[in-house]
Amino acid sequence: MSFDLNNILRENIKNLVPYSSARDEFKGEASVYLDANENSYGSPLERQYNRYPDPLQWSVKKRLSEIKGVPPQNIFLGNGSDEAIDILFRAFCRPGIDNVITVPPTYGMYEVSANINDVQIKKVPLTPDYQLNLEGIAEAIDENTKLIFICSPNNPTANSIHRDDIETVLANFPGLVVIDEAYINYSRQKTFIQELTEYSNLVILQTLSKAWGLAALRVGMAFASEEIIEVFNKVKPPYNINEASQQLALQALGNLEKVNEWIKETIVEREKLVTGLLQLPFVIKVFPSDANFILAKTSDAKGIYNFLVERGIIVRDRSKVELCEGSLRITIGTPAENKILIETLTKYQS
Ligand SMILES: *Cc1c(COP(=O)(O)O)cnc(C)c1O
Repeated sequence: MSFDLNNILRENIKNLVPYSSARDEFKGEASVYLDANENSYGSPLERQYNRYPDPLQWSVKKRLSEIKGVPPQNIFLGNGSDEAIDILFRAFCRPGIDNVITVPPTYGMYEVSANINDVQIKKVPLTPDYQLNLEGIAEAIDENTKLIFICSPNNPTANSIHRDDIETVLANFPGLVVIDEAYINYSRQKTFIQELTEYSNLVILQTLSKAWGLAALRVGMAFASEEIIEVFNKVKPPYNINEASQQLALQALGNLEKVNEWIKETIVEREKLVTGLLQLPFVIKVFPSDANFILAKTSDAKGIYNFLVERGIIVRDRSKVELCEGSLRITIGTPAENKILIETLTKYQS
């Protein structure tokens, strides 16, 4: 397999002259800024937001670089990982011509983004034990296949995808392999970030929305070769991460200890929740979880879901999803929340 980014990049993106903002054209320090038509008087707030933010978010990336062990030039920040997913489609997939591969059941946003961009999806379902069907993937690939999305740990099944299988895809596919590691902090598996030097067709997605507890700030990350990150930067809106989110993300990234404590506690709670669920007569199976949620197969998903809703507890009914028949997806809550959940479920009569 020989990977050449120029073979998969859309012609219009290759030729694109990106928007050049005032902040791009003058990067130094000055005392009087009259170049961006901002309000020079200030903002009607205690904190000042009258100046446009850093388009490339270097302070946040430098801090992330220390935490993740990857140079800042290999990091892209998006308005949630969802922005990174959308940019992949817009930069690499010709509408109405190209296609991408997904391996359902998986995160729904890949398909939505494909549909928005009028890009065909080829679905190669996971095996019954929620692993890759490598032969199926090999058969599905054609000359217009640009991206393969692999979510690991996978949402909604919660398991990690075998590393060897992912490496097989990476080594043989001449397009981009996108590994969505939104839940990597809860996993026994290690991240693929260290593999970036090995595979030039690798894109890793992570997010501050889950373990970092910052879903409302909308900060997602993509890690890839400098060449791929340059494409992301060319296509993204100039100021895609607002100043408030940049400041708060930077502040949060200084509190790694707290996040690591929560991860440990979540994993302890996850194992307790699994034990509690398995004692209920209507729980058939709890799938192994490497994430901050579990997928439980039950004898009556709809009934249990409605029973919980009536008592103010919301879980996700995934029973209509292929390979997830009868299953509910349950996020690990605080110890108090998990206790309420189990106590409530004990009262359910099927
Ligand atoms: C939650 C989640 C994300 C995060 O998306 P953001 O836009 O960063 O909030 C990404 N991928 C998967 C699989 C998820 O479950």
